[in-house]
Amino acid sequence: MKPEIDLVIRGAQVVSPEAIRPASVAIAGGQVVAVGHDDLMPPARETLNADGLYLLPGAIDSHVHFRDPGYPHKETWKTGSAAAACGGVTTVFEMPNTNPPTGTVAALRLKQQAAAASYVDYGIHGLLGDDTVDHLEALLDAGVTSFKAFVGNTFGNLPAPSDGALLEGFEKLALLGYRTAVHAENSSILFRRQQKMEAAGRIDALAHLASRPAVAEIEAIGRVITLAEWTGARLHIAHHSAADSLFLVREAKRRGVDITVETCPQYLLLNTERMLKLGGIMRVNPPIREARHNQPLWDALVDGTIDMIATDHAPHTPEEKQRERIWDCDCGFPGVETQMPLMLTEIGRGRATLMDYVRWSAVAPARAWGIYGPKGVIAPGADADIAVVDMNRTAVISQNGLQSISRISPWHGRAVRGCPIHTLVRGRFVMREGRLVSEAAGWGRSVKERQQMPPARPRNTELSTAAILTTPPGVPPNALPVPEAQR
Ligand SMILES: [Zn+2]
Repeated sequence: MKPEIDLVIRGAQVVSPEAIRPASVAIAGGQVVAVGHDDLMPPARETLNADGLYLLPGAIDSHVHFRDPGYPHKETWKTGSAAAACGGVTTVFEMPNTNPPTGTVAALRLKQQAAAASYVDYGIHGLLGDDTVDHLEALLDAGVTSFKAFVGNTFGNLPAPSDGALLEGFEKLALLGYRTAVHAENSSILFRRQQKMEAAGRIDALAHLASRPAVAEIEAIGRVITLAEWTGARLHIAHHSAADSLFLVREAKRRGVDITVETCPQYLLLNTERMLKLGGIMRVNPPIREARHNQPLWDALVDGTIDMIATDHAPHTPEEKQRERIWDCDCGFPGVETQMPLMLTEIGRGRATLMDYVRWSAVAPARAWGIYGPKGVIAPGADADIAVVDMNRTAVISQNGLQSISRISPWHGRAVRGCPIHTLVRGRFVMREGRLVSEAAGWGRSVKERQQMPPARPRNTELSTAAILTTPPGVPPNALPVPEAQR
């Protein structure tokens, strides 16, 4: 009789936020069916010996740009998701600043067609803006898992939503329970400063940082927290970059605001010193800041103020990244493939534990986007989304070896220790022995049907934009009768 089990991974260390325990893992039909002592594992069609290796729930990256539709010369779903697969990332959430932007059902259909090539599972953030706020329900029905508001300007030049539209969007999403990721920078501050510096002739790399000072992030985070707290909407701060704005998050969490926060390896591990050497290659929004921000951001990750690691994987071609004027260098760089080795290297140095890392890379994002259970954990019944990691494997990151079309990276030449060597998505190898399994293209699918956002706690609904459209009962018309004496 043929065994019913597809794969048993033997002799590994299975990591969760609570523990690292020796166990073998049995997989059937794309799901984990048993985690336990090796002697208890059922016979399987295939065995993978993982002596000395760690099994992590596959990383869930809340923030990638796969550029398709619109900019397939920068990235496609096939190349971007191949980078994810080779980085131990099994689910991505993709951003709406494509062309067309993901703000209509028709545009979403184009993105879903492009996403059919994905190696890894995915969610799609729809666009929250003035033009889309009336269609949020339609976008959700058609498959978006969440929303993104570009409160700060970035690649694609989508106009920032007005505060009125943002408030109205949050009112609606508080009722529906879905979370909105916000690029939190104050557009007015950064446009004005850039204009002044361009007029004065500054074109150097540090001018980019000077145009987007931390106060632009502080102001915008404060503003979106105010709107989320008032409405009860779920809020996610994308790419938190400044030490100075952490206090707002800490206080909001203390008050019970449903806020989650991501930061990225570049804000933890890079700073302006490197920018002086790499120039436009490091141009990104928000900017990579002075060295004084690195450690407080790391501390905030360890203490839970920042919930998770994302990458803001934002590919451009080498030509688009290396132009004479900093203002002409496109913003962003690839990251989904390098996040795990970079972070594991820091774990190996003792800056946090592997259990912490699993909390940041898998558990917190799974919870934030409503997919914890099926995703984010190695346990019976969960999808077999697994990164098999060798904490002793050393490598030097080479931009020439990246899966991304964008073979230009600020991490080029950096030594790492601790790498994913196999990646499984729903039980199927998408990377094996460090190599992409090219036949697995198209294996990825939307997490939408697995997603379950619990009800949020809407507030001030009686004052919402929807509620003020009708005159309350018992209120007289404004044109009151003229008293008789004055007739
Ligand atoms: Zn981004």
